[in-house]
Amino acid sequence: LVSREFHPMDSIVDVAGVKIGGGNLIVMAGPCAVESREQLFEAADIVKAGGAQFLRGGAYKPRTSPYAFQGLETEGLKYLAEARERTGLKIVTEVTEVQAIETVAKYADMLQIGARNMQNFGLLREVGRSNKPVLLKRGLAATINEWLHAAEYILSEGNQNVVLCERGIRTYEEYTRNTLDLSAVGIINHLSHLPIIVDPSHGTGKWRQVKPMAMAAVAAGADGLMIEVHPNPEKALSDGTQSLCPENYYKTMNSVFKLAEFI
Ligand code: PEP
Ligand code: MN
Repeated sequence: LVSREFHPMDSIVDVAGVKIGGGNLIVMAGPCAVESREQLFEAADIVKAGGAQFLRGGAYKPRTSPYAFQGLETEGLKYLAEARERTGLKIVTEVTEVQAIETVAKYADMLQIGARNMQNFGLLREVGRSNKPVLLKRGLAATINEWLHAAEYILSEGNQNVVLCERGIRTYEEYTRNTLDLSAVGIINHLSHLPIIVDPSHGTGKWRQVKPMAMAAVAAGADGLMIEVHPNPEKALSDGTQSLCPENYYKTMNSVFKLAEFI
C-alpha cells in the first residue's frame, strides 16, 4: 500500500485543513517538551511568527533515563489545545503507548510515532485504526525498507494518512547525536507516494547544524521540516543543545521559505 507501484500519484495528507505533500513547504516547530503553560504559549507565538503551520511539543516523552523529565501528559495536551485556540497552529504530538491514543487523539491534530516506537507493531496497528493523520519517525537504526514496512502496518489497518519523518540514524559518528540521512528523501520519493519531512534537530543534536540541514532537506525535495525551538534553550528540560533560540529560528524560517520558492 505504501509503494509507488501501487499508488503512482503523490499522496497529499490533509491535517485539519493543512495539506502535506504536493508542493507547499510545511513546518512543524516547537519545544521538545511541553514544560509549562507559559513556556508553551511563548513558544507558540514564536512558532507562529516564523511562519510554521504546526506546533510540536511532547506531552509524553520517551526519555533514555526513567529519572529524566517524562512530560506533563494530559495537562500538556490541554496546553497544546489551548495554544491551537490562541494561534490557529495545528498540533502534532507524540503518543507512546496504545492506552494513550484516545486521549492524545482528543487534543491533537496529528499523532506522532517516535523513533523508539517505529517497530512497536501493536501501537502502529492501533494508530492505523484511528482517524487521525500519523507522523511516523524513522527508527534509530531502521533501514528504509523497515521504515516503509512500519508505515504499511498503519495503512493496512485503514489509515492512509501517513507522513514519514527522517530524523537521523545511529552510526559510528559521535560528534552529532545521529547521522541525518538526507538521501532517504529522494529514495522515499522514488519508492513511495507518502509525503516525507525532515527533522534536522534530532538528526544532528546540535543547533548550529539545524539551519544548514534544514536547507539541504528542502533542496533534496522534502515536503516539510520538524524543528525544535525554545524561548530559552539553556533552560530547556530536554534537548536544549539542539533547540533554536527565537532569533535563529526566524533566520532559519526566512531561509527555508525563500529556498522553497525556487524548488
Ligand atoms: C521528538 O520529536 O520529540 C522525539 C522524541 O524525536 P525522536 O522520536 O525522533 O527521537
Ligand atoms: Mn526532542
